[in-house]
Amino acid sequence: RSKVEGNYPVDCLYTTIHTPIKTEKLHHLYLVDTGLLGRGRFAVVRRCTEKATGREFAAKFLKKRRRGKDCRAEIIHEIAVLEMAKSHPHIVDLHEVYETSNEMILVLEYAAGGEMFSLCAPDKNDNISERQIIRLLRQIIEGVKFLHENHVVHLDLKLQNILLSSLEPPGDIKIVDFGMSRKLGNCEIREIMGTTEYLAPEVLNYEPITTSTDIWSIGVICYMLLTGESPFAGIDNQETYLNISQLNVDYSEETFASVSQDAVDFIKSILVKNPQDRATAEDCLAHPWLHQDEPHLSCLQSLYNTHSEENVNRSNNFKLKCGCNK
Ligand code: ADP
Ligand code: MG
Repeated sequence: RSKVEGNYPVDCLYTTIHTPIKTEKLHHLYLVDTGLLGRGRFAVVRRCTEKATGREFAAKFLKKRRRGKDCRAEIIHEIAVLEMAKSHPHIVDLHEVYETSNEMILVLEYAAGGEMFSLCAPDKNDNISERQIIRLLRQIIEGVKFLHENHVVHLDLKLQNILLSSLEPPGDIKIVDFGMSRKLGNCEIREIMGTTEYLAPEVLNYEPITTSTDIWSIGVICYMLLTGESPFAGIDNQETYLNISQLNVDYSEETFASVSQDAVDFIKSILVKNPQDRATAEDCLAHPWLHQDEPHLSCLQSLYNTHSEENVNRSNNFKLKCGCNK
C-alpha cells in the first residue's frame, strides 16, 4: 500500500462550504467506538452512534496540521466535494462537521460492508460472481461519472476507498475519501500522487491529469475483482512503474479462467496508455459487458407482442430477464 506524495496547487480546491461547522464536543452528541474502522496517513475513522436518534455513522478525524503545514483548506475542499455529491446514491453522504483545535471531524454515512478490498481476498474471490462484479462496477462508474460531470477527479480510486453498504450479500457501493480529489478547470495538476499500483501512465510521466486518470484506476479495480491479482504490481515501486509504463499486463487465459471475453475486452478498453484513447465513464457504461443482464432487443420485440407495455418497461429496468441463452 505504498503511497507517492506531492504538493497540490491550491487553485484546484473548492473553498466554499455550506455545512455548519460545529464546535461542541462530538462525544456529547455521539457514542464513539474506541476501535477503528480504518486509518490513513492523516486520518482515523471510527464508528459512532448519534445519541438522539440511535443512528450509526462513521466519524473521520482529520489532522489540520500535517508535517508542519496547515491543511485546513484541503479539508474544506473535501467537505465541499462531499456536499456537491450529497444527492448521489453511490457517494458517501456527509451528515455533519465538527472542529476542534487540531482536528476536523466529518460525520459520514456508515458503510457497514467495509472496504471492497475484502472481496478480493484470495479465499473470497471464488464467491463473488461476474454478475455481482458487473452490478458493483456499474455503481462505481455511475458515481465517478457524476463526479466527472461536476468537474471533479477523485485521483485515489482503489479498493480501500470503495466501500459497501453491506458485505454478505454485497450491498451497494459508497465511494469515499475525497482527500486527493481535485477540481478540474484552469489549473493543471502535474504531480505524482496516489497509490502506486493504481497510478495511470500519464501521472508517472508528469502529464496533465484528466478524468481519464480515474478511469484507469477503475480498470485496475476491475482487473483485481475479476482475477484477485493486481495487474501492475511488481516486487517494488520501480518494477510497478515499469509495468505500468510498458503496459505489461497479463491477459492470459490462465489468469482469466472462467471470466468472459466481454470482461477482458472491457478492461482492454480502459487500460490504454493514451488518456485520449481510453474509454470515458460514459463509454464504460455503454460497454456490452455491463449490459449482459439486459434483455436483447429482439427478445424485447417478441415480448412486446405477447406482453403488456408495462411488462416491457419492467424488462427494460432489468427486472424481467428475456430468458434467452444468447
Ligand atoms: P484516508 O484519507 O486516511 O485514506 P479514508 O476516508 O479513506 O481516509 O478512510 C480510511 C478508511 O476508513 C477507509 O479505507 C475505510 O476502511 C474506513 N472508512 C472510511 N469511511 C468510512 C465509512 N463511511 N464507513 C465505514 N468505513 C469507513
Ligand atoms: Mg483512503
